[in-house]
Amino acid sequence: MATVFGAIADDFTGATDLAGLLARSGYPVSLRIGVPDTPPQDTSPFEVIALKIRTEPVEDAVSQARAALAWLTAAGAQQFFWKYCSTFDSTPKGNIGPVAEALMADLGVTQTIYCPAFPENGRAIFMGNLFVGQLPLSESPMKDHPLTPMRDSNLMRLLQPQVTAQVGLIDRLTVAQGADHIRKACAKLADQGVAHIVVDAVENADLTRIAEACADLRLLTGGSAIAMPIPQIFARNGLLSSSAKASIPRNIGTEGVVLSGSCSAMTNAQVANYIAQGKAAYQLDPLALQADGVEPARQWLAAQDLADAPLIYATAAPDRVRAAQAALGQAQAGALVEAALAELAIAARNHGARRIVVAGGETSGAVTTALGVDRLHIGPEIAAGVPWCFCRSGGHEIALTLKSGNFGAEGFFSDAFAKLEGI
Ligand code: ADP
Repeated sequence: MATVFGAIADDFTGATDLAGLLARSGYPVSLRIGVPDTPPQDTSPFEVIALKIRTEPVEDAVSQARAALAWLTAAGAQQFFWKYCSTFDSTPKGNIGPVAEALMADLGVTQTIYCPAFPENGRAIFMGNLFVGQLPLSESPMKDHPLTPMRDSNLMRLLQPQVTAQVGLIDRLTVAQGADHIRKACAKLADQGVAHIVVDAVENADLTRIAEACADLRLLTGGSAIAMPIPQIFARNGLLSSSAKASIPRNIGTEGVVLSGSCSAMTNAQVANYIAQGKAAYQLDPLALQADGVEPARQWLAAQDLADAPLIYATAAPDRVRAAQAALGQAQAGALVEAALAELAIAARNHGARRIVVAGGETSGAVTTALGVDRLHIGPEIAAGVPWCFCRSGGHEIALTLKSGNFGAEGFFSDAFAKLEGI
């Protein structure tokens, strides 16, 4: 099926989030892990390529993004999207602006928009300033991020040092007046030589107006939410047929496993909730992994009834994580856990697991790589930004969900399996 929309995401769970929001439309969405090394074939109307370039130097990020654009162009995409974090994670040397300028040059366009707003998750833009909940970005916890501390809330000031052309704003007062006014404002800014337009949005209706106004813009940039109205716009313009609706595979086995490597507060609560339901659970400990390897966990797993979806988790409270990191070093502790969960994912699949829940962004990367997954078809959403995905691994149809640390409610693991009931 011809591709109409091609997105490039700067990290893995951001790509899943975007793919899940696009899939709310019911149209087929494919997620590719990295730029495919074969030419496009059997593509979906909505294609998302997940890169891992959020904190990469400009040159590397630009070359990967351009390769992704070339693949999506070959797939037939008519509109393109550069997806970055809804908190605009970057530094003055960041790659959001440079990637946008490179994509604009390759597409031969002179203007694009920047809209990282995600109202459902409390990210709003007003007068060019980004808010996280009720706090300006620079007063939110993002001010202390270890890699990209955000000390300014003004998107125009954040973006200008990253780009060569002029930055401008379309503010909420214009956005609230509707798509025609936004289009006129874009044209006026074009006359003034403004190539990069930050666009205010505080609610979903703003995103719909903006997406409608930008239906003819070849390149859009932003967080995942601005892409949400786009499938409906393509459908309304007759560019998608209703027969293109996604179908869920019916032949997925029912045995399952949960693999959790995230140590976020929410994942700790989700692990506790699942254990409290009486589920079989095995805790991985980095120090024990260093001493004894993965074999004890593998033996435990082999003795489990996968019809009851047991849990293997390294998830631990901060003091326990700190103790493991003090003994082994942060990188080694993380690497031991990721390698163990990757190996156990293969063991679980070989043992019959066909429904696999993974918690943790880095953990998800390790598990998908181990399972040899390079393409995921996006299915029903379990929680905002966390869909079930369908893929092939080791010759089997597998349902896989990849949850970034803080996503989902406390009952997420059982919610996930319940969502597949009857399939
Ligand atoms: P999140 O999405 O919450 O950030 P990630 O999987 O991206 O989750 O990151 C969690 C990191 O912590 C991984 O590298 C994982 O291997 C590591 N980790 C998990 N459990 C432990 C533990 N008990 N001690 C130390 N590191 C751990």
